[in-house]
Amino acid sequence: MSEQEYFNVADIFGENVFNDAVMQERLPKKVYKKLHEVMDEGKELDLETADVIAHEMKEWAIEKGATHYTHWFQPLTGVTAEKHDSFITSPMPNGKVLMSFSGKELIKGEPDASSFPSGGLRATFEARGYTAWDCTSPAFVRQDAAGATLCIPTAFCSYTGEALDQKTPLLRSMEAINDQALRLLRLFGNTTSKKVTPSVGPEQEYFIVDREKYLQRKDLIFTGRTLFGAMPPKGQEMDDHYFGAIRERIAAYMRDVNKELWKLGVSAKTQHNEVAPAQHELAPIYAECNVAVDHNQLIMETLKKVAGRHGLQCLLHEKPFAGVNGSGKHDNWSITTDDGINMLEPGKTPHDNVQFLLVLTCMLKAIDEHAALLRAAAADVGNDHRLGANEAPPAILSIYLGDQLGDVLNQLIATGTATHSLKGEKLETGVKTIPDFMKDATDRNRTSPFAFTGNKFEFRMVGSQDSVAQANIVLNTIVAEAFSDACDILEKADNFDLAVHDLIKDYAVEHQRIVFNGNGYSDEWVAEAERRGLPNIKSMVDAIPAYVAPESVAAFEKFGVFTKTELESRAEIEYETYAKTINIEAKAMIDIAGKQIIPAVIKYITSLAQSVNSVKSAVADADVSVQSELLTESSALLSDAQVALAKLKDETAKAGAMEEGREQAVYYRDVVKTAMDALRTPVDELEMIVDKEMWPMPSYGDLIFEV
Ligand code: ADP
Ligand code: MG
Repeated sequence: MSEQEYFNVADIFGENVFNDAVMQERLPKKVYKKLHEVMDEGKELDLETADVIAHEMKEWAIEKGATHYTHWFQPLTGVTAEKHDSFITSPMPNGKVLMSFSGKELIKGEPDASSFPSGGLRATFEARGYTAWDCTSPAFVRQDAAGATLCIPTAFCSYTGEALDQKTPLLRSMEAINDQALRLLRLFGNTTSKKVTPSVGPEQEYFIVDREKYLQRKDLIFTGRTLFGAMPPKGQEMDDHYFGAIRERIAAYMRDVNKELWKLGVSAKTQHNEVAPAQHELAPIYAECNVAVDHNQLIMETLKKVAGRHGLQCLLHEKPFAGVNGSGKHDNWSITTDDGINMLEPGKTPHDNVQFLLVLTCMLKAIDEHAALLRAAAADVGNDHRLGANEAPPAILSIYLGDQLGDVLNQLIATGTATHSLKGEKLETGVKTIPDFMKDATDRNRTSPFAFTGNKFEFRMVGSQDSVAQANIVLNTIVAEAFSDACDILEKADNFDLAVHDLIKDYAVEHQRIVFNGNGYSDEWVAEAERRGLPNIKSMVDAIPAYVAPESVAAFEKFGVFTKTELESRAEIEYETYAKTINIEAKAMIDIAGKQIIPAVIKYITSLAQSVNSVKSAVADADVSVQSELLTESSALLSDAQVALAKLKDETAKAGAMEEGREQAVYYRDVVKTAMDALRTPVDELEMIVDKEMWPMPSYGDLIFEV
């Protein structure tokens, strides 16, 4: 950025969004009211109303410079998709065109579905797929160097109505939890709340590197992560980056990101440096679940797009650098009514908040019964480098409740009744001029994959480049199921107070094994979890079967979130994605090792040999032991690399020839990945020896310390 340009956030916030304020101002009263009936009460939208909305939306978008519109959707590729149509009609006899956009075009799009993953739901010759407007997530205009486009958030389904995307099941799961949470609220005498929605605030971690250097790393370009790379002398051991002062170049970039996001109505709130050098985080203020999922996609898009303008590159991969902290996404989740009640708010004395205790123990039951499914929801290829590898968070699902709720739960388990709640104490700093304040009753625990943090749960397993949709679909559904089970019992009870008291105790006792307040990174926990019978699923390939396990199918089908067929197709897509990703990584390694690294090492070795010869010919008895030693060492490593490369080529070809599916994915994980590691080892050792000038790409140190 050249000159600093100042702006007022309140003025620009949401200026490119067709939000409620714009609709209220622009739509005829009757139409505005009808649309709200659709949005709030799930009524059907008639074409006449849609026509009026489409017209106003177009007029508004054209004022913002839009020439095209697109149905913006989230197929199972992990990124968003769009097909652009301009607003023009066919030229009139006078040679001019009109700009038009009909209700039909707003409601329904028809992209060719055959090139999106469907997991066998659709043969390629059955190409029809539909995108359908999700009026609960506002349309927006995206302005950039490529022009301005009206983007309409849509769901994406096949001709036969099966979901081919993230949004469709997400919306279905939101309906499920709405219905079941309302049932539960009614049992406690609530007659006023009309709607219950999951609130979601996803924190996004990412790396920023210099774009020039990025462009010299084919591994980053093709796979999003480094496939080779020796550790620099300094890593993250000094803890000096976390929350450190943000460097000006990065701060200018963040400012630009925020500005773009604010215009799109995304409430970018928090930003800071993360644990690893060059790693950062952005968190918005939480929003309704489906809006939050859409916004997270916009955040990822914007982070990448704006980086280019600053000569930077944003890496969203879960593990761009081996040996350096990876990136994740914390999915903060709570349940809120339309009249502002957070069902996860414990109040000051949780022990006597019966509704909260029921909600809480229902959550213990949901997570305990579906731990493997929730783990699967966080599985993606890059995340295998975090979950279950030597990094946070652990692959074992457990819930952290903290001292206060942990104590209440223990009382329930021991006696069936909780009689008191621990209180926060006064914080003593030992400094007179710092005002005293009361601490929270509970400390935080950074090692837990699923932590209660005051009035929400924080699911910390999701990968940084993954959509948060899957995690929320699963959470919404399994909690809906637990609420439904509880309501089935309580609605029949003669004495509600007694029945709910017993049920809370039963759930607490039955599902206490899922609660763990200790250090989730310790080896003792792994052993303890095994004793408790909690699943420890270390890789994506082993996580996938949970989608089609009988208890998962039952829960999803009960609430119409997924059919068994849709689940089977998703499992198939996940295996395919795994195999394809590892295949690309293996081929990139083969390419880089063969065309860049081995030739560079040969040059280096040749220069050593020449040095030995020329020194010797100058002074016959000169000491050339250093050159000779280096020559021997690097020649040996070179030959190791060549052997490993041949093996990797061989195994990659074998894997590629296998039929798609679980077996192929397992082969990629067990054989191809092992061959990749075997090639990386000698290459990384060579990087430590070879003349830096001769090494064909920037090092880890260049990438993460010199942004
Ligand atoms: P942390 O200290 O763990 O980073 P923050 O208070 O910064 O926690 O919140 C992280 C995210 O959680 C933000 O997106 C925030 O808006 C969101 N959040 C806060 N309260 C809730 C809630 N009740 N439900 C869902 N998300 C919430
Ligand atoms: Mg945080």
